[in-house]
Amino acid sequence: MEFPGLVGPRFDPGSVWLVGAGPGDPGLLTLHAAFALSLADVVVHDALVSEAILALAPRARLEMAGKRACGVRTQQLRINDRLVQLAREGLRVVRLKGGDPLVFGRGGEEALALAAAGIAFRIVPGISAGIGGTAAAGIPLTHRRLARSVAFATGHDSSGELADVDWGSLARGSEVLVFYMAQRRIGQIAERLMAAGRPSDEAVALVSNATRADQDVRICTLGTVGGAVAGIEAGAATLVLVGPTVALRPLLTDWQQIEPMTVETGGAERRLRVQG
Ligand code: SAH
Repeated sequence: MEFPGLVGPRFDPGSVWLVGAGPGDPGLLTLHAAFALSLADVVVHDALVSEAILALAPRARLEMAGKRACGVRTQQLRINDRLVQLAREGLRVVRLKGGDPLVFGRGGEEALALAAAGIAFRIVPGISAGIGGTAAAGIPLTHRRLARSVAFATGHDSSGELADVDWGSLARGSEVLVFYMAQRRIGQIAERLMAAGRPSDEAVALVSNATRADQDVRICTLGTVGGAVAGIEAGAATLVLVGPTVALRPLLTDWQQIEPMTVETGGAERRLRVQG
């Protein structure tokens, strides 16, 4: 991939780039990300990263690592060790994560492990689902008259339990709330938000597979979201957005263009998986 006049930084053998892949549409990769994929010897990627994006790494061996890799929970420590091992083999390693690597993505843990092992690394930010996905759904995160603050939170912790979040402060602190990984716990979350004063008829959007060809957006309310979530395909990456700007969506969607960029694929057969 070449852009006239644009020269990428050195991607040295034996280093690791922690790269954000964005929410799904290959057009939402950064130039740094596309450059890294084109040069990578090995790409260690999460299950959420699409085939279309992996096809941009034609030279690379692909290794899937992540919580959803064929239902196997690959331990984070194993992934950290694997990145160090591949770098020590003298490879150009891309660790490719959905969205932004440092937003609910454990990129921070991987960067700490690389630094501790004395491996040079670079962090390539990506468009987080909470930013790019909500935009693709036609929902502004802020609006000068409707919402002056926005908060991002996770719905569950690493054990799958309701996240240890101060739900009352969250409910009162920001007009717009964006929840990642909240599908399974959204009924409980909605109860806590309502108990803290958010109205039961407040608009909620469930945004699944955002920026992808199969994007799906459902609108409901805090009072009904517990039931509405049941209709979403299990396993679809889903964001839950609560707040007054959800109401702007019908004014936008007739005119908003959302087709993703497509890439000729052919990389599926090269996929390897880190044994869990
Ligand atoms: N680092 C990622 C988040 C990883 S956590 C980022 O910055 O986006 C995984 C959660 O992200 C999913 O449970 C879902 O809530 C959200 N997510 C990721 N991609 C998404 C997409 N295309 N559409 C909707 N939600 C998405």
